[in-house]
Amino acid sequence: MGKVILDKATYRLIVASCVRFANARIPEEDWGEIYGILIGYIDKRKNIIITEAYPITHTMEKQYLLKVSYDNPDYVDAALIEEEAYTKDPPQFIVGWFHSHPGIKVMFSSDDIRNQLGFQTNNPLAFGIVFNHIRLVRQVEIAMRKGDPVTPLKNDVGFKVFRLKDPNLGTRASYVDVDFEIKDVRITSEFIEEAKNIVADVTRLLPSGNLVEYTRKNMELQMAKIKEVYTGTESYVKTLVKKGDTARISKVMESQHKELEKLILPMKHDFNKLGEFMLYVEYKERGETINGMNALRQEWDNYVSQIMADFEKIGTRF
Ligand SMILES: [Zn+2]
Repeated sequence: MGKVILDKATYRLIVASCVRFANARIPEEDWGEIYGILIGYIDKRKNIIITEAYPITHTMEKQYLLKVSYDNPDYVDAALIEEEAYTKDPPQFIVGWFHSHPGIKVMFSSDDIRNQLGFQTNNPLAFGIVFNHIRLVRQVEIAMRKGDPVTPLKNDVGFKVFRLKDPNLGTRASYVDVDFEIKDVRITSEFIEEAKNIVADVTRLLPSGNLVEYTRKNMELQMAKIKEVYTGTESYVKTLVKKGDTARISKVMESQHKELEKLILPMKHDFNKLGEFMLYVEYKERGETINGMNALRQEWDNYVSQIMADFEKIGTRF
């Protein structure tokens, strides 16, 4: 049997979309599980190539999983995604699903087995990925029973891939590990550090709520600080001119310019990271989030270039 092959972008998406609802900023009792589908195809060597991943929904109720069923709006999303995937070359389809076990052992629960049955009955090669950010961050496997000792791990990506051994056994079927590979990546301690950085960045930048509103708040806060430096510089230069102390103006302008950069650069870096993270929201949020974030980015760029242009004139205005 072949293995499951995903690329780095898919891995990053799985980490980000799971951590969005379970991270150090959210009280542990409020951690939510997420659920998504994986699109791909099967190559000549029976490897399953994942080409795209879509977070679909999340739930706050532990051990409860929304199923992709006809009476559920999530089913419509999944059907739409799959319909589009069929038109690709080679034609693609739902090859598996992923979900999170925040702070919980990476395994299939009886609900997961039931869900997996649905996938595997349609496609014998279908698989399920289970991710736990604690496993990645702390490099330990959580015990089945609360309080039991954890198992130390080394260079672990935080997830495992499972498939039912014999789906004909229905809900009594047991499951096995499926081999996987992250394309063109060697799982080194550097790679694990990089993955932990995604966890930290998502914790800070990707809220479980509305990303556009959240980013707007952060942006406006930053704009206010920039404005403060700007007006502060303006009145100071005015005073210097009044006092006839114009010799000091260029020095003041230089140091205030640095202050502005200290405020502008971090937001710029955050926007760059968000350019990736905004693609990791749930399918139903996607269009609105991408449009909203692109508009915010434009607004930010315009604000910065305008205020910097005005700033450069302060030194010679009075
Ligand atoms: Zn589960």
